[in-house]
Amino acid sequence: MIEYDKTNCQILSEACFNCNDPYFKPGHSNLPSVGCCSYSPVISLFEIYKMVKQKDYRFFMNEIYNNPNCTIYDDYIIIHAEVHPSFHQKKTDHLSDIEKDDLKLSFSTCQFFQMYKGCTLYPSYKNATCRSFICSTIESQLDDHTQKKMIEWTRTIQVEAQTFNSYHRRVLVKNKLSFKKNVAAVLTYLEGL
Ligand code: SF4
Ligand code: SF4
Repeated sequence: MIEYDKTNCQILSEACFNCNDPYFKPGHSNLPSVGCCSYSPVISLFEIYKMVKQKDYRFFMNEIYNNPNCTIYDDYIIIHAEVHPSFHQKKTDHLSDIEKDDLKLSFSTCQFFQMYKGCTLYPSYKNATCRSFICSTIESQLDDHTQKKMIEWTRTIQVEAQTFNSYHRRVLVKNKLSFKKNVAAVLTYLEGL
């Protein structure tokens, strides 16, 4: 049901082609089923380092840094999911913030998701969450051995990205560099690694 793609350090599942997870079902029957790709990916230093190493500056500048629907932080960038207009017709006054966020998620699609294709990013540009997330519906169907392997793979994926990000975040802070203030200098720094 799940497999580990060692080359790209990601967990894959054929069950995602026919997503049945109740939490990630679309908010309306007219909406496409995108499963957990309703998420707004956080593009961290680790993924941007991968883009720089590929000399894929065009992708970084066009799709990430100058993305019309992103938020740029000092050392990461959030690419906001597209929210279907019908969400704004929903009455949400009676909902808590968490309930509103959950409802919004059910009307959202990641900008990198394409129907019948799935994620259009190069696997190395997918963040650790995208490469490791497995929903509870799939998890509940795994045998004990595979569950243990899944935990191990997830830890490997997360630790690699977190270790890179926390070390280089400290260097950027020390050198007063950030995506917000001096993107070219951050790219030059990543290029030199
Ligand atoms: S991981 Fe689960 S929620 Fe995400 S697409 Fe696959 S089946 Fe659906
Ligand atoms: S980046 Fe790819 S895997 Fe992650 S939410 Fe978007 S489409 Fe899905």
